[in-house]
Amino acid sequence: MQYDVVVIGSGPGGYVGAIRCAQLGLKTAVVEKYKTYGGTCLNVGCIPSKALLDSSEHFHNAAHTFTTHGINIKDLKVDMKQMIARKDDVVAQNTAGITYLFKKNKIDAFEGVASFEDKNTILVTKADGSTEKLTAKNVIIATGSKPTALPFLPIDKKRIITSTEALTLKEVPKTMIVIGGGVIGLELGSVYARLGTKVTVVEFAPAIIGTMDAGLGKELQRVLKKSLGMEFLTSHKVTGASAKGKVVTVTAENAKGEAVSVEADYCIVAVGRTAYTAGLGLDKIGITTEERGNKIPVNDHLETSVAGVYAIGDVVKGAMLAHKAEDEGIYVAERIAGQKPHINYNLIPGVVYTWPEVASVGQTEEQLKAAGVKYKAGSFPFKASGRAKASMDTDGFVKVLADEKTDEILGVHMIGPRAADMIAEAVVAMEFRASAEDIARICHAHPTYTEALKEAAMAATENRAIHI
Ligand code: FAD
Repeated sequence: MQYDVVVIGSGPGGYVGAIRCAQLGLKTAVVEKYKTYGGTCLNVGCIPSKALLDSSEHFHNAAHTFTTHGINIKDLKVDMKQMIARKDDVVAQNTAGITYLFKKNKIDAFEGVASFEDKNTILVTKADGSTEKLTAKNVIIATGSKPTALPFLPIDKKRIITSTEALTLKEVPKTMIVIGGGVIGLELGSVYARLGTKVTVVEFAPAIIGTMDAGLGKELQRVLKKSLGMEFLTSHKVTGASAKGKVVTVTAENAKGEAVSVEADYCIVAVGRTAYTAGLGLDKIGITTEERGNKIPVNDHLETSVAGVYAIGDVVKGAMLAHKAEDEGIYVAERIAGQKPHINYNLIPGVVYTWPEVASVGQTEEQLKAAGVKYKAGSFPFKASGRAKASMDTDGFVKVLADEKTDEILGVHMIGPRAADMIAEAVVAMEFRASAEDIARICHAHPTYTEALKEAAMAATENRAIHI
């Protein structure tokens, strides 16, 4: 079959890119090695993790805050089988949605492993061993990533597990160790902590969510310890893990070089993700991946060293996030169609779906200091928000960083209720190069959590927040 574009991988990068190609009139095919579409995000990432985060949050609230609201429930208990079944149903609805969208957009979908014969020929090897050849003027590689494995830490997928297995546990563990205090580890750790598991996070760096503004990690650690009883062993270098029967032992070295050992029922290894290119046959077209992280090198237009072969999403440089992959899918489709699209990589929001949620866009205080940029900072705590008091979500704050002279917003960092949704206002403002004064003068509905952003902007401009 002859195509304008063959997309390898149906994750958020691949399926969105394919749909945009089809919308632009390009004859498009997608090759996906798994039976369901949607990649990591829909099958074992964003969507199932949020489904379990929502379920566990309901349980936690029912157990801990309902009585304060005047609601009493007797015999509250977790039905893990049902919780996982609902999560599976949410995944199925989403992946079926992609099948529908492929049909609607007349995209040909092939099930099998795609590999390059040459830059215009893709071999699809199906589960039964049969093969099919597709030829394409352009190829988009969107093969995503897999959990990073540490060489000294064997993952048995039973007791020592990755995020994928953590989404299908059949029981609520009594104890759990999470190796890695990044986004995925903290989200899944908080799922189980909310269900009653005693969770210990072991993190190599001195702080959790270390790539975000330092104030966020500090506050998140404080709240997760206070509200969920999570323990944090920061500045701890994991040296090994072993499972004997139902007991996992994780060994680590603390900052003083002393040996530390922790035992638990399960251990989630969440130390990052590595670009996935196995079986693609990149050597056949002369593409060499980067030594660190296995990423496919691309230029500013996401084209590889081979003309007409593009790569997007987790398999290339930049944040490993679904929305970044989606925007890159659209970008490449429009480039192939001869348009001049644009992605502002400085304004890709980062979110942690713990409770409180954490969200961030633009430069952190640490980055501004390191770059010698003179800036103003304004913060507003949720404990001073009427809306947050009403919902008992008073932990956290919003921080606005603005250029000292021009007042242009350079970064917005928030931890608090619905921060994941609220960050969009900051992204829009920054895309239009708004000043903190602009946000301060925009009318925000009362009572909403978004008023905290307005107040933080007022604090950044002449320290004039009203409610603090
Ligand atoms: P993927 O989604 O990984 O898709 C790649 C696809 O390519 C896969 O389906 C794979 O089977 C297929 N493939 C690979 N090789 C071949 C081949 N040779 N032939 C055919 N098919 C092939 N991001 C967010 O933005 N928000 C979140 O809340 C979030 N939560 C997450 C939670 C967890 C637990 C995890 C693990 C990740 C989460 N992420 C989140 C990250 C997000 O899932 C990824 O950034 C996103 O899926 C990357 O999209 P992609 O299209 O690049 O690749």
